[in-house]
Amino acid sequence: MKRRLDVRKQIGLVAHDNKKQDLVEWARYNQKLLMQHDLFATGTTGALLERELEIPVTKLQSGPLGGDLQVGAMIADGTIDFLVFFWDPLEPQPHDPDVKALLRIAVVWNIPVACNRATADFMISSPLMSDGYERHLPDYTEHLTREIHAGSTP
Ligand code: PGA
Repeated sequence: MKRRLDVRKQIGLVAHDNKKQDLVEWARYNQKLLMQHDLFATGTTGALLERELEIPVTKLQSGPLGGDLQVGAMIADGTIDFLVFFWDPLEPQPHDPDVKALLRIAVVWNIPVACNRATADFMISSPLMSDGYERHLPDYTEHLTREIHAGSTP
């Protein structure tokens, strides 16, 4: 099964505190491109992007308060189809399980994910950004139709 990644993408933007400057600089450099898409961000990241770049961003909860999970849920329901997530590899986060959950669900649904500036640069400058793209969806039929034995034993 495939799902089309439209030219206008729904981009999720998340950066841990030590990586926020990186994300702001990257977004500033790519501002014109980013403005051709719909942007969603965790609370503080979104507020910072709006303040620094004056671009409209749909702001979710702050990451540690559930924002990462909201982004993950939007990936699962097909709303967000492109993720830039600058997570901090040197500092434990109070919401580490949510960070893992977000990275995991992005892989489950096979969406492009950039976890650092170099990858984000490669992704945003890809010709596929403006061509549209048929994204393969893994076949989860086996999982969805697996037999569950939950009844009481006779
Ligand atoms: P924040 O959340 O944008 O609200 O800081 C990011 C995160 O820590 O996941």
